[in-house]
Amino acid sequence: MIRRFIQRVLGTSGKPETGRPARGPLILARGKHGIRRDDIDACALRTCETLADAGFKAFVVGGAVRDLLLEQKPKDFDIATDATPEEVRRLFRRSRIIGRRFRIVHVMCGRDTVEVTTFRAAGSLGGDEEDERPTDESGRILEDNVFGSQAEDAARRDFTVNALYYDPLREEVHDYFNGVADCRRKTLRMIGDPATRYREDPVRMLRAARLAAKLDFRIDSATRKPVAELAGLLDNVPRARIFDEAVKLLMSGHALRGVHQLRAEGLHHGMLPLLDTILDDDQGRRFIEAGLKNTDERIHQDKPASPGFLFACLLWPQVRRRWDAIQAGGERPIPALFLAMDEVLEAQRELLAIPRRFDGMIKEIWALQPRFEQRAGSRPFRLLEHPRFRAGYDFLLIRAESGEVPQELGDWWTAFQDADDATRKSMLVADTEAKPKRKRRRKPKAAAAAAETPSP
Ligand code: ATP
Ligand code: MG
Repeated sequence: MIRRFIQRVLGTSGKPETGRPARGPLILARGKHGIRRDDIDACALRTCETLADAGFKAFVVGGAVRDLLLEQKPKDFDIATDATPEEVRRLFRRSRIIGRRFRIVHVMCGRDTVEVTTFRAAGSLGGDEEDERPTDESGRILEDNVFGSQAEDAARRDFTVNALYYDPLREEVHDYFNGVADCRRKTLRMIGDPATRYREDPVRMLRAARLAAKLDFRIDSATRKPVAELAGLLDNVPRARIFDEAVKLLMSGHALRGVHQLRAEGLHHGMLPLLDTILDDDQGRRFIEAGLKNTDERIHQDKPASPGFLFACLLWPQVRRRWDAIQAGGERPIPALFLAMDEVLEAQRELLAIPRRFDGMIKEIWALQPRFEQRAGSRPFRLLEHPRFRAGYDFLLIRAESGEVPQELGDWWTAFQDADDATRKSMLVADTEAKPKRKRRRKPKAAAAAAETPSP
């Protein structure tokens, strides 16, 4: 059986197969793959049943099958079918067609939604991404080239472990490119010729790094090799798509490993260019690592985690550096912080393109930091009431953990929050930490915003 696997992937020439599989898929019957029907989300199961009853093929596909084989909990369940979007739409009262060019159908059950995609022909991009094939004048792709057979649908996917189809009615896994064996070998292997597939869609390089980190897989050497040379192609990818991929990596629960993987592959230039400067600096690296580790843990504990918080972490070492420099130029601490914040956010816009909707949260987290140093009078009580107190406090703990502020300050706030009123009052610290006021200077623009943040 192993020989059949190897032949299928390598072909007789010993080169990886580029097109569609010559033979049909390898079919693993119930009991041969370890996936149980109960593992499938109820909405996905019902959707497959309805499609099958109407005479269509219907499979759970992609990451969900891969994750179930690896005994991990899938993030979402996607379904692939030979029914067209209109046919799917007609079968489900609560469904809608989304996407302008390549249309997928969202089927809703209760509060759950599953995505149903019609088998696509080779050459199209994966996921919900728009593809780049010729379109008519209005930009719409000509429908008849879009749909394909199940085998073509498997071939257009990125990695062998992502081209697995689970039929929940027959309880079979259909494996076109030896994905089950690669799951067992913990290997991420590109379907077809890796360089060609990266040229078609450079984001696949980022997906390789992200999935290797998430699954703790090694990247097969032929899949890995072209990346060093092709990483620059990421410059041509729309920034919004890169940003989405960055968020997936950072929110995967394996951000720390993911970031190291990106750097090891030389891909961070295309995704998180700011990593270079940060990771070269010891304090910055300690801070980022503590921040990513903290978020990874939160995600594993099902605690809320937000991209805004993570971006606040990623950019903080630069803010600190600018904050110090601006103060060294004679500015007072709070206005200097606000100037540094604006500069850093503005500078990253060309690099990572963090959408402005995150600015509010990022700035609030940063702006709260000096207020944690004020432990006298009514200020600590007011800070507790701040709507962003929790995020600011979590951020403070990361600063403490990385050695940027004394651990004692973090501990003080941990105790202060939970204490009763009398204890809190007894905890107040005389205002000795306040820095001596500098000579008053003309108010810079940022001072208006800083007015909210009383200086010591
Ligand atoms: P995750 O666990 O992060 O959801 P995933 O593999 O399911 O990982 P999705 O972005 O949800 O990733 O994509 C679903 C499926 O679509 C993938 O498993 C893969 O088969 C296919 N796919 C996604 N993006 C691409 C791409 N850029 N090129 C080829 N196939 C892709
Ligand atoms: Mg997925």
